[in-house]
Amino acid sequence: GTQDMMYQLNSLETALKQYFGYDNFRPGQRQIIEEALQNRDLLVIMPTGGGKSLCFQLPALLKPGLTVVVSPLISLMQDQVDALLDNGIGATFLNSSLGLSEIRSREMAILKNKIKLLYVAPERLLSEKFTPFLDKIALDVGISAFAIDEAHCVSEWGHDFRPEYRQLRQLRQRYPSVPMFGLTATATKRVQEDIIVQLGLKNPGVHIASFNRPNLYYDVRPKQQRSYDQLLKYIRTQKGSGIVYCLSRRNVDEIAFRLQKDGISALPYHAGMTDEARTLNQTRFIRDDAQVMVATIAFGMGINKLDVRFVVHFDLPRNLESYYQESGRAGRDGEPAKCTIFLGFGDLKKIEYIIEQKSNPQEKKIAQQQLRQVINYAEGTECRRTIVLRYFGERFQGNCDNCDNCRHPQPVEDWTIEAQKFLSCVARCRERFGMSYIIDVLRGSNSRRIEQNGHHLLSTYGIGKDRTKEEWKNLGRSLIHQGLVDETSDGLPVLKLNSRSWEILRKQRSVQIAIAQKSAENVLGKYNP
Ligand code: ADP
Ligand code: ZN
Repeated sequence: GTQDMMYQLNSLETALKQYFGYDNFRPGQRQIIEEALQNRDLLVIMPTGGGKSLCFQLPALLKPGLTVVVSPLISLMQDQVDALLDNGIGATFLNSSLGLSEIRSREMAILKNKIKLLYVAPERLLSEKFTPFLDKIALDVGISAFAIDEAHCVSEWGHDFRPEYRQLRQLRQRYPSVPMFGLTATATKRVQEDIIVQLGLKNPGVHIASFNRPNLYYDVRPKQQRSYDQLLKYIRTQKGSGIVYCLSRRNVDEIAFRLQKDGISALPYHAGMTDEARTLNQTRFIRDDAQVMVATIAFGMGINKLDVRFVVHFDLPRNLESYYQESGRAGRDGEPAKCTIFLGFGDLKKIEYIIEQKSNPQEKKIAQQQLRQVINYAEGTECRRTIVLRYFGERFQGNCDNCDNCRHPQPVEDWTIEAQKFLSCVARCRERFGMSYIIDVLRGSNSRRIEQNGHHLLSTYGIGKDRTKEEWKNLGRSLIHQGLVDETSDGLPVLKLNSRSWEILRKQRSVQIAIAQKSAENVLGKYNP
């Protein structure tokens, strides 16, 4: 019954956490995995970076036997196997880059049942030498599935046809009872049909995962001085129940308390409370005894409330992945719902401070990069949906008409000339500096660093005196958000020209930017990573 289902769902979640360290499945993943566990053939279409691999990796770990993964590129195999080994998962690959003795020892490990995932190139898999080994695997340890990655390579209609993929059909004939998965990012109907036919998939479960949630309205508001009052006003204009996420337990308690005093039925939820108190509050929220749950990120995992009408981030989310998951708890019934970030300068400082405390340089770097992605979302003037979906590799054409930027586009101005000055200064500084430095050169600052680098002699030195620092920053950030210049994301951010920057420099492209509104400027203009 339902109880069993819940148990099964939770155990999949437990396995996800245990093997991969993730808290939530992404769209499509859970259902795909459930079908894989039922030994169904599958066709999985998901944008690149969407998380296809997990769809065969987790079932491979949960089923007896070996899953054979067909992958076209040696470098891809290496990366995936390394990532699995890092997670302590038995995985290996066989390809032409390996010596004979290495191959023998890997084959031994497979036959000793020490490996759950084997990556192979298609031409090897179907070679005369390999098939007896495959038969032996089937007999000794069992083959749990064939996962065909980049399955569009089987189709002449795709963009990357590989004749050796056509041979994969033999797998179906030779091992008719082993389930087969085709995975690709190619979304055309023709290619999808071709994959099914060419691989001989039997009544496959077809999953076309999109990360788009059309019923969610996204917006970002600059936090005002009296931010609590602003939140209260916001909640009073919403219908139905909602979640307010805060960073700290103290804030959760305080805001829940103040909302109660102001007549909103709000409850707190955080890891500092007893299990009983938390469960009680959760139940009351789910049953609509309370309208608002004020919570830390401890709240939400696996909760089953479909009619959440709004999710507010009163503090900045940690990264876009968690923002997608947390905001995604709104509107699961498909009805309109709202996802709002209240963005404050102080919050950025707080998060920066937390990141600064990290002692592991690698962790610090990742956290900085993630913060930058969140800021790019929050500051962006582009369709919010486009930004979120881009993070998952999904292309979205914009103009969703369901986010603040699409509904209330900010006034734009033509800044092509300024952009040319800015970009040519980036070029003359040899693409080795960040935004503040470039702006200093443009505005003719007499800093010692500029002099030491000899940049006071550049033709672009001082040609931007007519604009303020804030105006240049607004331009610089717009160029980054619109993809008209790149900002490196490892180490200190450095500006690099891309092909679009060159089009601007060659006067083949014009630049429109939104003029920062005063209130937003005060909050955002100060932030300079
Ligand atoms: P694809 O094969 O679809 O291009 P990958 O399987 O390589 O994408 O996944 C892309 C990234 O997403 C990887 O870094 C992976 O670890 C991450 N990822 C996948 N599933 C999840 C999840 N449920 N939660 C968080 N990250 C995930
Ligand atoms: Zn939009």
